[in-house]
Amino acid sequence: MTERSRAGGLLGEGRGRLVEELRARGIHDEVVLKAIATVPREKFLDRTFSSRAYEDSALPIGEGQTISQPFTVAFQTQVLGLKPGEKVLEIGTGSGYQTAVLAALGVRVFTIERHIPLLESARKRLEALGHHRVISRGGDGTRGWPEYAPFDAILVTAGAPDVPESLTKQLSSEGGRMVIPVGGKDKQKMYLIRKNGENLSGEELSDFSFVPLIGKEGW
Ligand code: SAM
Repeated sequence: MTERSRAGGLLGEGRGRLVEELRARGIHDEVVLKAIATVPREKFLDRTFSSRAYEDSALPIGEGQTISQPFTVAFQTQVLGLKPGEKVLEIGTGSGYQTAVLAALGVRVFTIERHIPLLESARKRLEALGHHRVISRGGDGTRGWPEYAPFDAILVTAGAPDVPESLTKQLSSEGGRMVIPVGGKDKQKMYLIRKNGENLSGEELSDFSFVPLIGKEGW
């Protein structure tokens, strides 16, 4: 066995262990677990951190930002209950890992990142992994992406002081869902917002800690 294939095997084992860890922490949606099992997280990290790809922790990706913890990615994805073909807007592309997990579920992904160098690296990784249908742009995601609205689901990967009105407006009025951490700059509560007709309802979920959502309708 070559060094390279041995390393690949270890990473594969790591992914399997991570999936079991996520299951033990309450991730029960087999479709989400399968997506996590198929996306190579090491490809979304700098070489310095790739050996830690299957630790359940957030890691630096440059520009003072982080790749989300796998549990967080699985939790936010599971909460949305996505179906193949649905239109999903992600705010905060970061490394592109969460984007790849969404694409692996067969949804149509639109993603926005404010740090252009991060967006460019994420695009390259997504292309290299064959996710050619992901649509992305740079800029302030707190204003959403009106040209492609309405969205069946919106996933916000940075902590907001409040729920951006532009995003609720761009949710589908037929069962649209948004998962978003809301609170202070260091700690937030995860919320699941549902839209039916013009009615919005919010469900408070558990505590998380995200980097801040910076923008016109953020910090
Ligand atoms: N989903 C990412 C991943 O898997 O790597 C998580 C990235 S990190 C936790 C959150 C990202 O949100 C950062 O890359 C940050 O630059 C970005 N961000 C913060 N405010 C933003 C905004 N208003 N619009 C777009 N991106 C934003």
